[in-house]
Amino acid sequence: MVPFRRIALLGIGLINGSLALALRERNGVEEIVACARRAETRERALELGLCDRALTDPAQAVEGADLVVLGVPPGAMGPVAQAMAPGLDPGAVITDVGSVKTQIVHDVMPHLPVPGLFVPGHPVAGTERSGPDAAFATLFVNRRVILTPIEDTDPEATARVRALWETTGASVDLMTPEHHDRILAITSHLPHLIAYTIVGTVADLETQTRSEVFKYAAGGFTDFTRIAASDPTMWRDVFLTNREAVLEMLGRFTEDLVRLQRAIRWGDGDTLFELFSRTRAIRRAVIEAGQAFERTPVPGPTAAERSPDGED
Ligand code: NAP
Repeated sequence: MVPFRRIALLGIGLINGSLALALRERNGVEEIVACARRAETRERALELGLCDRALTDPAQAVEGADLVVLGVPPGAMGPVAQAMAPGLDPGAVITDVGSVKTQIVHDVMPHLPVPGLFVPGHPVAGTERSGPDAAFATLFVNRRVILTPIEDTDPEATARVRALWETTGASVDLMTPEHHDRILAITSHLPHLIAYTIVGTVADLETQTRSEVFKYAAGGFTDFTRIAASDPTMWRDVFLTNREAVLEMLGRFTEDLVRLQRAIRWGDGDTLFELFSRTRAIRRAVIEAGQAFERTPVPGPTAAERSPDGED
């Protein structure tokens, strides 16, 4: 059973839309009300059955809701929280799905009549697609959701939000917002920054040299293009709102990159081999932790045959 009856989803794209579909498959949700600025977003959300009603005014959307989920880009969380505040029921639990936590807590809390009912959260699941059409019901199955309650957060509210996510098939971990931001800076934010950089560099090269780099793009590059196709608004906001943690991890990364640059320059194969062996073990550990899967071989030529240099 879903532990809430009337749910307001502020923002109805990939994440809140997937939450709606997952909850729709469970018993007990009486009504889901969505809120979005654009008519096309609201119309698609209704057509796809993500909500029962779709409104533009956050304060109207949250009226009568016992749960509000903020699912807009990180930089819009504060303004949307401010706009919804006049319509909130005093007993409503508020949560969010933003990819950054410390700044969102800072931006949202001042607008809430009962700060103890805010349970900040982040489902560590997603794709490079966005908008209502990107939503699917199984997005959170076997994925992790991180909740970052703060000192004032009511444990009962945290328990209900935990139960909500567990009904979607996710498992829930608790940690502080600061700890969340440091971990996600290295596991998610920095990899996105690297993908954006590499794809940008290749695109510049293609333009400048009118070469055929796209035509001969190997697996490594095409994987980066998928990540670098992620929503520009969201990722701009992630880097601006998790600035300190990202800069710290970027500093470490840059040092490690220079070490590899030096090893290549000096023909130091041992350093390269030792690192590449260690990282291979990390891939196995990630698979064992259930966060990635072995690629199933596809019929036809093997990866080695397709790519004699082994770039795949
Ligand atoms: P999305 O698919 O682009 O949906 C965003 C929703 O917010 C849309 O309904 C959009 O509708 C609305 N919106 C956009 N800008 C707004 C603004 N300035 N003010 C009010 N509403 C606005 O985004 P998403 O991928 O679901 O991401 C939502 C949140 O989940 C973000 O905070 C993100 O950090 C987090 N998250 C994303 C992923 C991922 O992989 N994408 C994973 C985990 C967490 P209108 O434009 O019509 O208003």
